[in-house]
Amino acid sequence: MDKKTSCRILVILFLALAAGCVVQFVQKPKKETSEKQIFAMNTVMTFQAYGENASEAVEAAAEEIKRLSSLLSISEETSEVFMINEAGEGMLSEDTVKILERALDIYEQTEGAFDCTIFPLMQLWGFPTKEYHVPTKEEIEEKLKLVDSSKIEVQLPYIFLGVNQKIDFGGIAKGYASDRAIEIFEAYGIESGMVSLGGNIKVLNRKPDGSLWNVGIRNPKGAETDSIAAIKVEDKALVTSGGYERYFEEDGNTYIHIIDPKTGYPAQNGLASVTIVSDDGMLADALSTSLFVMGEEKAMEFWRNSKEIFDMVLITEDERILVTEGLEEKISVKGDYILINKSVNRD
Ligand code: AMP
Ligand code: MG
Repeated sequence: MDKKTSCRILVILFLALAAGCVVQFVQKPKKETSEKQIFAMNTVMTFQAYGENASEAVEAAAEEIKRLSSLLSISEETSEVFMINEAGEGMLSEDTVKILERALDIYEQTEGAFDCTIFPLMQLWGFPTKEYHVPTKEEIEEKLKLVDSSKIEVQLPYIFLGVNQKIDFGGIAKGYASDRAIEIFEAYGIESGMVSLGGNIKVLNRKPDGSLWNVGIRNPKGAETDSIAAIKVEDKALVTSGGYERYFEEDGNTYIHIIDPKTGYPAQNGLASVTIVSDDGMLADALSTSLFVMGEEKAMEFWRNSKEIFDMVLITEDERILVTEGLEEKISVKGDYILINKSVNRD
């Protein structure tokens, strides 16, 4: 090859390379922030993603939540849960297997404080239809007999409920949905994201500017926007259960939507809200409901002895704030708080 030819080849190679770069530069999607709000599972849900495919990711996550909502709804006649409740048995889909298995596991772990067969009691109090009603002791005793997850028989993929039993995944479904939404964000290569599904928040990585997310905890006695504390996190679920989310009042008494499966009455064990912080959204959701039922002392005992890895913030009716040690460096609180340690007993 003479000098001229090799020079030509070099020029051609250089031009091809340059053209490749230009094409790549033109084709590379720009990083963007995308946000979407939908109403599903009886609550307002917000999706926020930052990355190259942010708007597609947000759309896909919202679609997935709508799909889960129609699968798990207790009132839509075509939902899997509705049909199982009507027939007393049925075939479980992949999603409901995961949710049911976790619900039964948490039932065991919490000694029944979390019980997904709570639905007959929810109906008795009128929560699903909003036709609220304070039942008599006899009515409660009658329905209490049906609330017992140990009577559920599972032979995968089939479920068989006890006579007249009905399941309700309201205490765990949004946590599962938040996990799915974040999985979808990851599949789309999202760099930074947050989903907020009515009290269930899950964040992916850090904020787009590289700082930690700062998630507020609502003041249970204040307005929706009034936060009493904030926790700095990355890659975590933060789930809060509180009486203020859904309740009705009659004759000066307040009746909330979290029912104590031992008594059949709305949980009234001195807590105004429970926030669980964990990697696992479904776990955080189930535990926020169960620990609310348990009350302060049992919730702390559960946290100390549980095999599950999580932290929590308990806000009591008498306005104390208890924070487990894993959150010490991450939380900022308006006023004082009590730190709960794994080993040292509080007095
Ligand atoms: P959450 O807002 O996550 O605390 O869940 C409250 C919802 O869970 C209620 O609206 C019911 O659908 C359901 N639920 C109420 N009490 C219980 C309970 N003790 N165990 C399991 N689910 C419950
Ligand atoms: Mg819950």
